[in-house]
Amino acid sequence: MSIPYRVDIEDKVVAITGGAGVLCGCMAKGMAESGAKVAILDLNLEMAEKVASEIKSAGNTAFAVKCNVLEKLSIEEAEEAIRKELGSVDILINGAGGNHPKGTTSNEFLTQADLDNDIADAVSFYDLEQAGIQFVFNLNFIGTLLPTQVFTKNMVKKGGGCVINISSMNSFTPLTKIPAYSAAKAAITNFTQWLAVHFSKTGIRVNAIAPGFFLTAQNEKLLMNEDGNWTERAQKIIRNTPMEKFGSPEDLLGALFWLTSEKGAGFVTGTVIPVDGGFSAYSGV
Ligand code: NAD
Repeated sequence: MSIPYRVDIEDKVVAITGGAGVLCGCMAKGMAESGAKVAILDLNLEMAEKVASEIKSAGNTAFAVKCNVLEKLSIEEAEEAIRKELGSVDILINGAGGNHPKGTTSNEFLTQADLDNDIADAVSFYDLEQAGIQFVFNLNFIGTLLPTQVFTKNMVKKGGGCVINISSMNSFTPLTKIPAYSAAKAAITNFTQWLAVHFSKTGIRVNAIAPGFFLTAQNEKLLMNEDGNWTERAQKIIRNTPMEKFGSPEDLLGALFWLTSEKGAGFVTGTVIPVDGGFSAYSGV
């Protein structure tokens, strides 16, 4: 993998939750290429091992570990395994997250027809079920809070460390159709600021990256029709992204490297950095 530049993260131990996924798998490979020892934590151990083995084939250090970010015991077991294998974690990237169809309305705007229930198979705001909303909220928010509790304890003891949360465009202005994901990512932005202040006397810096739009497994159905053409929503996103394209996972590496570098960002904490081709800066007019 070609990385944008090198920073002072050599031999640092990095834990990346959701590290088997598209964006965080790329982050894992990028951090490893820059000399860090990378632990890939994911529900999907097989995919995590695949990422780890790609990293090892490139001559770098990686360790795959099964972990459910919604179960504290599972995270504690992962932490112990990582400590034995690579050492105690210096940098935590809270990447596990995403949306779910059960937290998604069919239409952007509520109409009388939704109330009359006469749109076949349509999910209106009133059809959303608590369990679906809770699933999305928990995965994104609780799934960031619990690993932070588990992994930062040793950072406090060591007198320093770094936490990177993954927020979203939703956190600035909610996107239509996905109320739970929007609220959860707004919570991540807020929590990033809260944690940065809370940890400010410990040497731990806390920042977030807010990716714009990247085509990945979790949003594929919202963005691409079965015939391979962009959906109306995808076309709308591109129209509202001044750079007129989706991002590629490698686009996140520059911001990640900078934020994790003690030399580069030693006075930076509590920020949320958009990497979005200008989407969040554009009003559409
Ligand atoms: P992805 O679906 O490719 O990866 C998510 C990974 O998280 C998967 O490997 C999955 O197995 C893992 N995971 C799910 N539940 C878990 C759990 N309970 N415990 C541990 N691991 C679990 O997603 P992605 O697109 O690479 O997204 C990564 C992060 O970036 C997410 O937080 C997502 O919300 C955020 N994000 C994505 C986009 C985008 O355009 N794709 C935009 C903004 C923000």
